Amino acid sequence: MGTRPLVKTLILCLFLWGACKTKEPPKEEPIVSEAVIQEVYICPMECENGMNYYMEGKCDICHINLIQKEKP
Ligand SMILES: [Zn+2]
Repeated sequence: MGTRPLVKTLILCLFLWGACKTKEPPKEEPIVSEAVIQEVYICPMECENGMNYYMEGKCDICHINLIQKEKP
């Protein structure tokens, strides 16, 4: 019999906590700036007339590791 008020309080607490949570404004996604300059990679063998790659990896033609192109 003595446990009932405690359970009620717990339920009330959970309810209030839940209500409080829903009131919280949704977190805004950080805006990714488009000004960020993408790193450009090129094949050191200059396959396909020095084709640019936008992610690190290997050349599609000769499978040599790409090197980062120096910014002008
Ligand atoms: Zn290549």
